[in-house]
Amino acid sequence: MKTYELKCTQCGANLVISTDKDHAFCEYCGHRLVLAAENEYEAAVQVQASKDAAKVKMHEIDKATELEQTKAHTNKWKEYNKSQLITAGVLIICLIMLFFCH
Ligand SMILES: [Zn+2]
Repeated sequence: MKTYELKCTQCGANLVISTDKDHAFCEYCGHRLVLAAENEYEAAVQVQASKDAAKVKMHEIDKATELEQTKAHTNKWKEYNKSQLITAGVLIICLIMLFFCH
């Protein structure tokens, strides 16, 4: 008996099928899956491809998180600059007032 790890071409469900036959049926949608030698390879490739896609997705999420962090950092920096600018402005106004009050 052979075990096939494959993805249903109809509904995309991940299936593990143990059979001696050259075909099987998807337990979810009932789609007939051919398990011929070349299809076994194809099925294996499909499984690998979906794993790769998952990896790419994870990478994208990582990137997005990184981007969010950079953005948050930039915003913090901007806030810091703004508060410094306000402090400097207040100080200058105080100096001008002192200058004119004398
Ligand atoms: Zn299916």
